[in-house]
Amino acid sequence: MINHKCDAFIVACIDFRFQKFIKNWLDKNFKNKTYDYVGFAGATKDLKTIMKQLDISVRLHQIKQVVLIHHEDCGAYGKESTHDRHVADLGKVKKIIKNKYPKLQVDLYYLHLDGMFEKVCGKI
Ligand SMILES: [Zn+2]
Repeated sequence: MINHKCDAFIVACIDFRFQKFIKNWLDKNFKNKTYDYVGFAGATKDLKTIMKQLDISVRLHQIKQVVLIHHEDCGAYGKESTHDRHVADLGKVKKIIKNKYPKLQVDLYYLHLDGMFEKVCGKI
């Protein structure tokens, strides 16, 4: 088997309204990079599923970076889809990933309805 590595693991929501924004953003920010891309309703909301995919990505592709993208007005969160809630959840997931894979760079984003990517710090 040929060893095939890639740079990053990207997680976003399935919501069709945001796919064009995400694609454009990735084209710009990951121009010369490669990445595994997964889409799940609520992005990282189902953490078990995400961790399973991440484990595979780490093992097979030796990724160095993780990008988690939550978005405004997320149906998977319903009424709980507030800015604060997404920021809190992103921070929590970052902590869990960093505990398991300390060397991975984890970047968090909150994507607004108008396509604006807001960088989220996610304190550890
Ligand atoms: Zn969503």
